[in-house]
Amino acid sequence: MRIFELQPVTVPVAGTDDEFPVRRIYCIGRNYAKHVAEMGCDIKRSKPFFFGKPADAIVLTGGTVDYPSRTSNLHHEIELVVAIGKSGRDVALENVLDHVYGYAVGIDLTRRDLQAEAKEKGRPWEPAKGFDLSAPISPIHRVEDVGHPVQGRIWLAVNGEIRQDASLNELIWSVAESVAELSTLFEVVPGDLLYTGTPAGVGPLEVGDEVTGGIEGIDEIQITIR
Ligand code: MN
Repeated sequence: MRIFELQPVTVPVAGTDDEFPVRRIYCIGRNYAKHVAEMGCDIKRSKPFFFGKPADAIVLTGGTVDYPSRTSNLHHEIELVVAIGKSGRDVALENVLDHVYGYAVGIDLTRRDLQAEAKEKGRPWEPAKGFDLSAPISPIHRVEDVGHPVQGRIWLAVNGEIRQDASLNELIWSVAESVAELSTLFEVVPGDLLYTGTPAGVGPLEVGDEVTGGIEGIDEIQITIR
């Protein structure tokens, strides 16, 4: 017998009573040139790359995120999230959008001080990126409802003050290129989410902050830091 039950992590599908079960969360680092520059990296020698978060790091919009332990520099990163709806390996660029179920707005919360330490010491990023409650997300919007976003404003505000403000057309790897590249490393499977990277303007959050963000044509997101 199963000695205890694990609750599956799910994200609501907008405009329906359906829920999207989350299998894995993949993330892309350094996918907007101005963010690469603000992190002190050389854009000419930098290429986007993947890392991950556990599925149970999901926090639905409207939720509260406890300020995490072991950091004094919690950062916000607003991101377009791709939800996978069809399996595939080594998917060709021209077919890859068939594997996308929908899109959401996400925030890749980051312990920036632990990330800096990990980079300096060549250590893994899990404590910096994959901590509890590190993956806030809006409902998922089906492709049939919102299409495939290629441009549109992506923004984040803290207590009403705009901190990140860019366009999806600044992505270094487009959505299609991102999913195709991911599928060369891992089989993409229904239930996978891909956080596609953040534009410039990342910065610290404090206890009590009200964080809002959005992507034109997709949705908005709101969380409170406690
Ligand atoms: Mn990120």
